[in-house]
Amino acid sequence: MDLAFTPEELAFRDEIRTWVKDNLPADISHKVHNAMRLTRDDMQRWAKILGKKGWLGWGWPTQFGGPGWNAIQKHLFEEECALAGAPRVVPFGPVMVAPVIMAFGNAEQHKRFLPGIASGEVWWSQGYSEPGSGSDLASLKTRAERVGDKYIVNGQKTWTTLGQYGEWIFCLVRTSTDGKPQTGISFLLIDMKSPGITVRPIKLLDGECEVNEVWFDNVEVPAENLVGEENKGWNYAKHLLAHERTNIADVNRAKRELERLKRIAKAEGVYDDLRFRDEIAKLEVDIVALEMLVLRVLSAEKSGKNSLDIAGLLKIKGSEIQQRYTELMMQAAGPFALPFIFEAMDAGWQGDFPGGVVANAPLAANYFNMRKTTIYGGSNEVQRNIVAQTVLG
Ligand SMILES: Cc1cc2nc3c(=O)[nH]c(=O)nc-3n(C[C@H](O)[C@H](O)[C@H](O)COP(=O)(O)OP(=O)(O)OC[C@H]3O[C@@H](n4cnc5c(N)ncnc54)[C@H](O)[C@@H]3O)c2cc1C
Repeated sequence: MDLAFTPEELAFRDEIRTWVKDNLPADISHKVHNAMRLTRDDMQRWAKILGKKGWLGWGWPTQFGGPGWNAIQKHLFEEECALAGAPRVVPFGPVMVAPVIMAFGNAEQHKRFLPGIASGEVWWSQGYSEPGSGSDLASLKTRAERVGDKYIVNGQKTWTTLGQYGEWIFCLVRTSTDGKPQTGISFLLIDMKSPGITVRPIKLLDGECEVNEVWFDNVEVPAENLVGEENKGWNYAKHLLAHERTNIADVNRAKRELERLKRIAKAEGVYDDLRFRDEIAKLEVDIVALEMLVLRVLSAEKSGKNSLDIAGLLKIKGSEIQQRYTELMMQAAGPFALPFIFEAMDAGWQGDFPGGVVANAPLAANYFNMRKTTIYGGSNEVQRNIVAQTVLG
């Protein structure tokens, strides 16, 4: 196993770095570096810039219009984007549903759906979880009944991230109650403008409405929107979740946020406190260890081995690290990490904030927001069970 980059890989990294520097809008990177709220337009503007270059589907093979990069090149691309302060690409289209459509969809679906995902024009959401069916996803109840050349969908999805912007949603639906719960699930692509769909926001601890409930009331979905075979959706869903968990580890963002933590600790005068610096050092060691783990996975992939079975491990460590740096930032800012000022997350906010560093105001909201990371994408408790079974045996 060789974890060092080759001269070609380093040259590739320079090329990406230069392109990102020249193309990432300064107002967007300013917001990312200071944890300010990104609007729908901010996220989609960056997605379209990447799309125009052919890099929004940076993990895609050339056959489907992607750059055909290997695992190391993908990693270097993600790292350069994160360090430069690019927004995290909303993964539901390019990272989650696209690989499923490529692997299990038909030629017509490739032609119909992939271009809109690759260009960043079409916003996708993920409709897996339901009330009572999160960890126990196979118990999901949203029904899709085949009537002629349509499915009639009834039920409810929940925790749908950014579903308020969603134009399409990929859903797991129940098409049979025979046999094991897993064998009666299908994978449907649903136009969110269809009559009978209602999206209701859920307000979270940080005051934002990042997640939603999505209701389906006799929604008609053309049967041609079924991916793969009826009742085989569980297999496709598992394919997608492995991608989701690797993506959630986000070691590159952790490296950027570690530098921000150090800046905040210095600005607030706690960097000289040995105990506080100990905490930063422990976090840094864990981030380096996570990076080594990611590089081991990439090195294995480069030599043709499939390492996605440790995706759960990456998700556990990555999400815990994300929670730790937001906690340390809030501790560093102390009383200036205000409990909740909604407007403080907007660019240019200069509210009444005597004595503190204005840029630190969103830290508490961020802390609250990041509590989600050990829950979504499959909770860490459940991931530990999976790792115990698949890795330890
Ligand atoms: C911010 C956020 C965004 C999300 N975005 C989306 C989205 O876009 N689309 C989507 O489909 N879903 C989304 N989810 C849903 C997410 O996948 C689920 O919340 C997650 O799978 C946990 O399910 P649950 O909430 O039903 O909790 P439950 O499954 O009810 O779990 C409750 C608690 O019990 C523990 N637990 C459950 N089973 C076991 C077990 N077997 N062993 C040990 N402990 C166990 C869990 O770890 C957890 O602590 C999102 C969630 C959040 C918080």
